Amino acid sequence: MLKGIPAAPGIVVGKAFVFGKEDLDVAPIDITEDQVPLEISRFEDALIQTRQEIIALQKKIAADMGSEHGEVFDAHLLVLEDRMLIEEVISRVKKEKLNIDYIFSQVLKRYAHVFSKIEDEYLKERISDINDVGRRILRNLLGRMRKGLAELEDEVVVVAHDLSPSDTASMHKNRVKGFITDIGGKTSHTAIMAKSLEIPAVVGLEIATEQIKNGDIVIVDGASGTVIVSPDADTLKKYQVQEEKLKGQTETLAAIRNLPAQTTDGRHVTLAANIEFPDEIPSVLEHGADGVGLYRTEYFYMNRKDLPVEDEQFEAYKNLATTFGDKPVIVRTLDLGGDKFISQFNLPKEMSPFMGWRAIRFCLGRPDIFKTQLRAILRASVFGNLKIMFPMISGVEELRRAKEMVEEAKKELKGRGIAYNAGIEIGAMIEVPSAALTSDVLAREVGFFSIGTNDLIQYALAVDRTNEKIAYLYEPTHPAVLRLVKNVVEAGHRANIWVGMCGEMSSEPSLAILLLGLGLDEFSMPSASLLEIKNVIRAISYETAKKIAEEALGLATGQEVNTFLTSRLKDLLPQMYGN
Ligand code: PEP
Ligand code: MG
Repeated sequence: MLKGIPAAPGIVVGKAFVFGKEDLDVAPIDITEDQVPLEISRFEDALIQTRQEIIALQKKIAADMGSEHGEVFDAHLLVLEDRMLIEEVISRVKKEKLNIDYIFSQVLKRYAHVFSKIEDEYLKERISDINDVGRRILRNLLGRMRKGLAELEDEVVVVAHDLSPSDTASMHKNRVKGFITDIGGKTSHTAIMAKSLEIPAVVGLEIATEQIKNGDIVIVDGASGTVIVSPDADTLKKYQVQEEKLKGQTETLAAIRNLPAQTTDGRHVTLAANIEFPDEIPSVLEHGADGVGLYRTEYFYMNRKDLPVEDEQFEAYKNLATTFGDKPVIVRTLDLGGDKFISQFNLPKEMSPFMGWRAIRFCLGRPDIFKTQLRAILRASVFGNLKIMFPMISGVEELRRAKEMVEEAKKELKGRGIAYNAGIEIGAMIEVPSAALTSDVLAREVGFFSIGTNDLIQYALAVDRTNEKIAYLYEPTHPAVLRLVKNVVEAGHRANIWVGMCGEMSSEPSLAILLLGLGLDEFSMPSASLLEIKNVIRAISYETAKKIAEEALGLATGQEVNTFLTSRLKDLLPQMYGN
């Protein structure tokens, strides 16, 4: 049994597919002079086969996710035509008289070594292209098979050291039943993605890729963060029973889909969805959301080699706007950085990426990119109820500069004679402690706040949200976090604006009681959690929730708050949360 960090709930039993674990060590074998041409032709065949594979993969991803997303493979195809690399391999085989697989693996290693010393992010990205393609060629030379995440044919549980945003993005439509990773925390992008894909996941297992072999049967319990490798019959049975129980709960929850998110004494809150991709819309609707509280647009920029142009973004935002009609859709402007790195920006490596040139800071420094996105949102705003939200606001000046950019974008559209909603509502994410502490001042300048606790917690407690080693310190219930949240809600209400939360904290049933009691107006979360939270809200009165929140705020530690709220939740809904 391995214990990790729960990332996305649900139980699955499946065959492990260990991703990215591959032995590139090939033994040298002497060859004779007359074997040389044979080795070279083997190499050429492998290059042709690799080319065909990449083209097929490119077509598949383009069909699943749109043509831009397949463009990343153009760079891979170019590697196959790299004369320097190919000639180095051929001339070394002729000279050293060793098998071509060995020579090729040595050349690959040399490239990796040379590139690893380069600081430039753009060139670093090129080595990952070379490595990707190199591994494919080597596999073909050795007659081995290894599929990428977009090429899986069987249903599997993916076991990986880590998954990059582009890995998780390409996983979108295939047969991944669950996934587990060695590194990462509860709110790292991999965990967020698992929730939005509704795939049970456990992260931060540290040694999963060492302990699990391809083909092993594993049970993933995403709610408790437990992974069981090669379970015996009794354990399998136990989890199957639990899986059934979960299914039963899902059915019970489906019954409240069309009922309002209202407390027993009539306080109504908005329940909205967080999305990463527009094609999550069906799931959002299926779970009865009141709208989209956070559209993470950075995924738009991933797995492609160019930047999305205004028209392309416009079409996507317009589609969202029309689908949701009067219901609000909050489009968060590009929140690049931290663990959401995007290669085409060629950003320099930073010592502390989470505190670096990212999100709104990057956008203000790159008005070309920022205003393209703003114009696209503004153009789409006439088709529905779109709102704009800025990430990582740290103070009023930054917010004012961002708002000025919106005004400039409006002027540009006006100049082009294009319609937009002049009164589009603008909100700020509150995810930096300085913003939370000055929320009274910020509240005068925006139409709403959305508290981004994923980041707020990491900045307030100085705990990297992606680091499994310190995950025990990442506490949403820490008294410092509760005080910041309370401060933001009160400041918002004093200025007559609504206050929501789009961090993962709002999707925890026990914490929902506390947040409700603190007066939060909107809860935005992965669609799969919406009905569970609605169920909690419908079971309690606002008066009781307020008292619980007050008592929680008087406690000294995150652990005490947690224990207290968990037991209140059990009292409230014993069938669902009792033992
Ligand atoms: C947050 O920080 O809470 C948030 C919702 O944004 P992200 O997780 O995308 O950083
Ligand atoms: Mg954030």
